[in-house]
Amino acid sequence: MTQRRKTGLVFFPAFDWAISPTHPEREERLLYTQDQVFEEGLLDFENIVEYKPGLATIEDINRIHICVPDARSVITESHLISAGGAITAAEKVLEGAVDNAFALVRPPGHHAMRVVHGARGFCNINIEAVMIEHIRRKYGHRRVAVIDTDCHHGDGTQDIYWHDPDTLCISIHQDGRTLYPGSGFPDEFGGPNALGTTINIPLPPETSDEGFLHVLEEVILPIVQEFKPDLVINSAGQDNHYTDPITNMRFSAQGYARLNERLKPDIAVLEGGYSIEGALPYVNVGIILAMAGLDYSHVREPDYDPGALRQSDEITRYIREMSKDVLELWKRRHTFKAEIVKGARYARRNRNIYYDTDGIREQQEETVRICNDCGGFIAVNSMASTGNRVYAVIIPSRSCDLCRLEGERHFHGVDKAKQGVHYLVLQDRDRDVYVVK
Ligand SMILES: [Zn+2]
Ligand SMILES: [Zn+2]
Ligand SMILES: [Zn+2]
Repeated sequence: MTQRRKTGLVFFPAFDWAISPTHPEREERLLYTQDQVFEEGLLDFENIVEYKPGLATIEDINRIHICVPDARSVITESHLISAGGAITAAEKVLEGAVDNAFALVRPPGHHAMRVVHGARGFCNINIEAVMIEHIRRKYGHRRVAVIDTDCHHGDGTQDIYWHDPDTLCISIHQDGRTLYPGSGFPDEFGGPNALGTTINIPLPPETSDEGFLHVLEEVILPIVQEFKPDLVINSAGQDNHYTDPITNMRFSAQGYARLNERLKPDIAVLEGGYSIEGALPYVNVGIILAMAGLDYSHVREPDYDPGALRQSDEITRYIREMSKDVLELWKRRHTFKAEIVKGARYARRNRNIYYDTDGIREQQEETVRICNDCGGFIAVNSMASTGNRVYAVIIPSRSCDLCRLEGERHFHGVDKAKQGVHYLVLQDRDRDVYVVK
């Protein structure tokens, strides 16, 4: 017998926000789930409680993102409510009103990176990251693990926490060689000051429940256990479902419920999932029942046939091998730093980022101070095809004195005209300051 838990639900279908009326990212995604939740009588259980979403603020966004030209320009009211819904879910858990909570909100967020020039993969702001930094601000610093079970690589969350040793980001997803956004391989392993706190597990197309649950038991749970987070967050994308129109996996509602039961996230936040009628209502109901410690064995899609969904032996072998490799990499995470930084004081990476939803291209140079005492101060020089150029200096959470000093000095030393940038930003995580010059 599993134990009953008190579970909070926050719904926000965002009636006035859609990529377009026929686009899979539209409000019906949640309306069918809401119908199913009522039909199944889930809100009649005394241990399942519904809360109205709160409203995130511009300060909440500026704590984690560098929006260009500013936050208001890249979001709508719906984004503030979607992130606000995630914050409400987290607050109910942290204040002890419930044991866990599920924010069934949209627009989604896990493709939104640190710098935001527009929308990528239907995402403008990263609602999990906005939530995490809000609760760290309000309730004190916490070690957080984000487990992204969306079918697409959680590349935005990865980018935001790439240099943060206190935030473990694990993403399982369909192999990037076969699906948007094309990233998320095991060698994407975190920045030099945070090696191993980014973990990627790409799965081959047509992976079924067996493969997902193998990775969960053999890789994700042991890593999470060793990391010892104060909070476990599930970016709960439902697009691994066998009926999803934009992906190629074979995960079922039963599999999702089982995954949730084993992972036991404190907070789940809905991400993708585009099989609006065939999957989302069943997957979400299964997850809600699992979170609440109730029996979910009767939750089945009308056409569910586990025999027909079985994965090939070749896929099973491939996943077993890869799981071993990822775990081995994790075990050796502390041994790579010297070899990677080779005595340098700074590490740099150059990237081209494409905003597929808005058709924007961005060129970015990111520099991080090599530090053994904190995540290291970061400087980002970003130029977008919109013509906007921004230079940002980020003082990390729990910054050491040297990184703070060097970061501040660096910020004051930047000559906007000489650098050719329009906006010069200081984002100071510890002091909760966001300055634009
Ligand atoms: Zn994922
Ligand atoms: Zn997705
Ligand atoms: Zn430092």
